[in-house]
Amino acid sequence: MLDIRPSCEHCDKALPNDSNEAMICTFECTFCADCVNTILQNVCPNCGGGFEKRPTRPSNCLTTNCVTNYPVSTEKKFKPVNMEKFKFVLDTFKSISPNKR
Ligand SMILES: [Zn+2]
Ligand SMILES: [Zn+2]
Repeated sequence: MLDIRPSCEHCDKALPNDSNEAMICTFECTFCADCVNTILQNVCPNCGGGFEKRPTRPSNCLTTNCVTNYPVSTEKKFKPVNMEKFKFVLDTFKSISPNKR
């Protein structure tokens, strides 16, 4: 189950459960779409993988599997990217399609 983290790791922008801008890698490193598209160029600085849009946990409790019963994370992971270290990761991965990395 996803944590659904509250904000962008790089710029600290709020990314609530219903945000359309939250992007995650397979480890659920969480960034806003702006950071993914511009600074990160769809390369996760922590693992080198690509990003996909994070789904929203339903607020409707019809199935009981909803955000009321499974609350989203409130723990911020604010860890701005070290651009010097990231350059090597970016150069290694950016020209390879995410499913081939
Ligand atoms: Zn951001
Ligand atoms: Zn990652």
